[in-house]
Amino acid sequence: MTQLTKTIEQQLTNHAHNHMIKDLATNTWLTGTDVRSQRDALVAALQHAGVHAGDIVLISLPNGANNIIALYATLALHAVAYTVNPTMPLPELATLIGRHHYGALILGPDHAENSAELATRAHVQLSTSIDDSTAATPVLAISHQPVPTNTLLHDFAQHNPSPVGVLMYTSGTTGDPKAVVLTHGQLFAAAQDVATSQQLTALDRTLVVLPLFHINAQVISVLATTISGGKLVVAQKFSAHRFWRWVQDERITWLSGAPAIIAILLKTRPAQQPAVPTLRFIRSASAPLLPHIQQDFEDYFHVPIIQGYGMTEAASQITVNPLAHPQVGSVGRPTDTDLVILDDNDAPQPAGVTGEIALHGDHVITSYLDPKYQADFRHGWFHTGDVGYLNDEGYLFIVGRKKELINHGGNKISPAEIENVLTQHPAVNQVAVVGLPDDIYGEAVTAAVVLNPGFTGEDTSTEQLRTFATSRLSKFKVPSRFVYVDSLAAGPTGKIQHTRVKRALMAATAH
Ligand code: ATP
Ligand code: MG
Repeated sequence: MTQLTKTIEQQLTNHAHNHMIKDLATNTWLTGTDVRSQRDALVAALQHAGVHAGDIVLISLPNGANNIIALYATLALHAVAYTVNPTMPLPELATLIGRHHYGALILGPDHAENSAELATRAHVQLSTSIDDSTAATPVLAISHQPVPTNTLLHDFAQHNPSPVGVLMYTSGTTGDPKAVVLTHGQLFAAAQDVATSQQLTALDRTLVVLPLFHINAQVISVLATTISGGKLVVAQKFSAHRFWRWVQDERITWLSGAPAIIAILLKTRPAQQPAVPTLRFIRSASAPLLPHIQQDFEDYFHVPIIQGYGMTEAASQITVNPLAHPQVGSVGRPTDTDLVILDDNDAPQPAGVTGEIALHGDHVITSYLDPKYQADFRHGWFHTGDVGYLNDEGYLFIVGRKKELINHGGNKISPAEIENVLTQHPAVNQVAVVGLPDDIYGEAVTAAVVLNPGFTGEDTSTEQLRTFATSRLSKFKVPSRFVYVDSLAAGPTGKIQHTRVKRALMAATAH
């Protein structure tokens, strides 16, 4: 057993007669004994079919207790949990299934109809459902033949003393999603880091609203809560309409959220401020949180927002604001990860100087699964592609991503700074700023804007937005073009995908 699986076992025992996981979709609490027996049944089913340590188990289940139990079962077997978006369209899932060899697929209701086809594609056989008594009946597709070796994963495992626990792809915000492999040791270290910095205890009741196929929910919500002995309350998906009732009814103490969730909660705020005395804080990460939204939220709800910064490659958290001393606009201080700011020659920079963020630590990867990305690892540091600076007190401020910076006649412009200004205009609902090819300047600052209801994208809006931006930004940062769109391409946690927005704008102008 690893420290991770040993700690999960201990917590199942500690909760034997107590509530441990609540599934909001079925409105049921499971005790540690319930979780253990469902977990053991799944382990037995997987073992019976010959799933071995090191085999990949694909988990395509909606958010819920089943999904977490499938993770526990896979970890207990020292197999590799690969949790994916359960609502992925069939062709996309089929392509993804073609990438690896699997010991088993655990398919949820969205794919129950297609399970036979998917099983055939993955060269596995369809098996019985795990548990017919639950509303979301998962289907098991299991390999009954020896699983062919996944060469890259096999090589990776050879070089790591700790067993591989999780395979997860990055969100694909800046390009093709990259496969990240995390060991039990890294997952445990990351979960401990979150538990320590967020001061999680057995008294905590964590609301899970982010997708479990993302590192944020899997480690920050699920594993950190599990190892610290708290209770998990899992929503199938976020709902602004039900949110405050969930917090009140389940006496939620904290949750891991994202800026999109905070913005929606603010927009749909109830006429009367809800009484939520148990709620200690809401954690926000995954994408930039606009300072004015944070301030408006805190002023109205009187619930602190604690911003953090993390990524798949670091098994989630890298920095977070200390609960007692948060700084608005900052993503906080490095917790147990070494972090430096580097210039273009990889030289470390002092406080106040902006550069690329590089990392090294117990739960930071030292290679991707695919060696073609090896250039991101240099001189012992993982180069994140994120750009930021540290202030004198060691708080990190994210400026943007290297790949998304706009080069306007040699000036490097951060889209986030311009987006931060434009979203403060009452007409603007959402905005993404990208650089489009420009004959003179190389790239022209272009704003793709989703307007609020009641506003139209006419010349007056453009004039108003330009005047608004001009009074708040240096001239070269003011967008030369405003394009009005119905929506912006976004990833699973609501993070805007600038590359896709840029591609769409380029395609539209090409016509
Ligand atoms: P890909 O690597 O495939 O382009 P991705 O980087 O979005 O996708 P994730 O690992 O899910 O994939 O996200 C990590 C990234 O999210 C970080 O590198 C950073 O750019 C961004 N991020 C996380 N937290 C914050 C934050 N608080 N503020 C700004 N950006 C953040
Ligand atoms: Mg990334």
